[in-house]
Amino acid sequence: MRIAMIGAGYVGLVSGVCFADFGHDVVCVDNVAEKIDALRKGEIPIYEPGLQELAASNSAAGRLNFSTDVEAAVAWADAVFIAVGTPSRRGDGHADLTYVYAVARQIATAVDGYTVVVTKSTVPVGTGDEVERIIRETNPDADVSVVSNPEFLREGAAIGDFKRPDRIVVGTEDPRAIAVMTELYRPLHLNEGPLFFCERRTSELIKYAANAFLAMKITFINEIADLCESLGADVQKVARGIGYDKRIGDKFLHAGPGYGGSCFPKDTLALVKTACDAESPVRLIETTVAINDNRKRAMARKVIAACGGSVRDKRIAVLGLTFKPNTDDLREAPSLTIIQALQDHGARVAAFDPEGMKAAEQLLPSVEFGSDPYAIAAGAEALVLVTEWDEFRALDFRRLHATMASPILVDLRNVYPPQEVRRHGFKYVGVGRGSDG
Ligand code: NAD
Repeated sequence: MRIAMIGAGYVGLVSGVCFADFGHDVVCVDNVAEKIDALRKGEIPIYEPGLQELAASNSAAGRLNFSTDVEAAVAWADAVFIAVGTPSRRGDGHADLTYVYAVARQIATAVDGYTVVVTKSTVPVGTGDEVERIIRETNPDADVSVVSNPEFLREGAAIGDFKRPDRIVVGTEDPRAIAVMTELYRPLHLNEGPLFFCERRTSELIKYAANAFLAMKITFINEIADLCESLGADVQKVARGIGYDKRIGDKFLHAGPGYGGSCFPKDTLALVKTACDAESPVRLIETTVAINDNRKRAMARKVIAACGGSVRDKRIAVLGLTFKPNTDDLREAPSLTIIQALQDHGARVAAFDPEGMKAAEQLLPSVEFGSDPYAIAAGAEALVLVTEWDEFRALDFRRLHATMASPILVDLRNVYPPQEVRRHGFKYVGVGRGSDG
């Protein structure tokens, strides 16, 4: 099959490369010419483990190409995927659909022969109806089916998630589109990822409901963590104790600094807005959003408390800036709010991240960046572990102790056993470790 993937970001690029790896012919299209130039030279503009190699082998095999020409790609393709961004709209938190609708108009004028138009971007219920309306109004002769196919991959594990998904959700009731979508995902049947067909609006809502549920689960355990601190219990053991129950499950029960990233914050907010407009408010999600927003600054207060009540003129070293490990993505990362709050209280912040520093330099102009954990910890009053990159899991505490102004570790991901850190003469503060941290 011939696939045009419009939008070569985290989702579009990974999906395009993986579809090519299944044996389809793919052209990834983006309107940022520098991105396409780089991709043509084999340079991957994002950090995603395994993507570079997979893109290189499929480009070499001739199945993967890159272009800025939306119209040509659309005319050539059997299926056109819309994978552009749907950020929060400034001011009101609704999903900004400007990019999706702009692409829909471009598709309308360029389609040639029967084409399945697939919305992979996360879009509010009814967006597929609007994409279809735009296409039919712009070009009444267009022979298209408009399908919803939300993406559930996680940055940092995106290729594995795309190739071995828990499920593939496809929103269409059109038999011609069902046949095309089945053919596109046929290689995955070997991996037993179920292809779940439903109505388009249901499919659109599945994506938001999934993200909202996961955000709620994280927020739930974060509140339990706070309670553990007040009551002298250990959240990690509570999480294990409840996670053994299959109805609850043990995933997404890690207490931490609050969820961030390019999806959960914007998608929970967009769902709240959609639900309000539908006069069917989702109070649980409204509360989840509010709790999570407050949590990030609360983490800065935790650092301040660990430093004896003030960080004014103190150097605070922050380990990890991306919203999670194995990505360079800083969108809505907790680190940004925590650092801002520490600076508001007069701290001098130094930071290190294995992949996020390039983006961070733009966003955090008054932070000092170091080349490794030890460089930023020298002279620091506290070391704050914000993102649990693997390389932060075996820090040399003796070396840190020798150069820090005071040996304090605030471990916002509960990476370390408190006793081990204390054995090296450190004060240890974790999250929800009321019995020990
Ligand atoms: P992104 O910002 O990384 O990529 C979007 C790309 O689209 C950019 O490269 C941009 O230049 C390009 N673009 C915008 N308008 C265009 C146009 N008119 N023509 C061609 N290209 C255009 O975004 P992303 O993180 O890949 O997210 C894309 C969508 O997928 C969003 O709706 C998001 O919510 C959803 N999603 C993201 C993830 C994730 O982990 N990032 C996971 C699941 C779903």
